[in-house]
Parts: sequence; C-alpha cells; structure tokens
Amino acid sequence: MENDIFCKIINKEIPTGFVYENDEVVAFKDINPKAPVHILIVPKKHIESVADLKEEDAHLGLNLILTAKKLAEEQGIAESGYRLQFNVRRGGGQLVDHIHLHLLGGKQLE
Ligand code: 5GP
Repeated sequence: MENDIFCKIINKEIPTGFVYENDEVVAFKDINPKAPVHILIVPKKHIESVADLKEEDAHLGLNLILTAKKLAEEQGIAESGYRLQFNVRRGGGQLVDHIHLHLLGGKQLE
C-alpha cells in the first residue's frame, strides 16, 4: 500500500467527484487526461495490480469491464470506439498500486 492514493480517494480522504459508484467499484476522471474522455474505474477492495488478482476476484474483474462499457455509453463514445487499459506493475507503466482500468476515448487513439 506504499503508493496508493486511490484508497484515500475511495475513503473520501481526498475529495474527488465520482462519475459512478456501486457496491464494488468507483469511477472518477483522471487528473492528467490523455484523451478527451479519460476515466479510471477502480475497485473498492485494495488489490495492488492485475498480477495480484485471485480466482475469488473474478466477479470484480468483470464488474470493472462492464462499468467501463456502461460509462463509454454514457460518455457517447461507445459507437466511435474506445480503449480499455490495465497497466501492470512498473514495467507496464503502473504508478498507482491499486488496480484501475483506464477508459480512454473521444479521439482517434494510436
Ligand atoms: P497508472 O500509470 O498507475 O496506470 O495510472 C495512474 C493514473 O492515475 C494516471 O493516469 C494519473 O494521471 C492518475 N492519477 C494519479 N493521481 C491521481 C489523483 O490524485 N486523482 C486522479 N483523479 N487521478 C490521479
């Protein structure tokens, strides 16, 4: 948990407007957006990365993806298309040690 600002956001220690919340996940806008739509979908349960997911987390993983799909529809980018991205550990570009799914869209992605 040494680098987990997202637990503080989930616990509302750092005020951040949620674009979506359910029992298992929250979603909020990335502070440094790489695209016109850049939303992070984050489980409330502290799991450091995809590499740390267990069989028992299968439902949670699906919830992240289905939440991203729903938000893409709400943001009006479902038809044009979008990217869902998990960065895994430092070599994969992960800087915050709490699983998060990036939803990116609203422009042509390379
Ligand atoms: P990673 O590189 O770990 O996959 O992505 C972490 C993402 O979290 C980055 O895109 C970064 O801009 C975003 N981020 C880091 N700190 C904060 C924060 O305090 N608030 C928000 N909304 N996003 C953050």
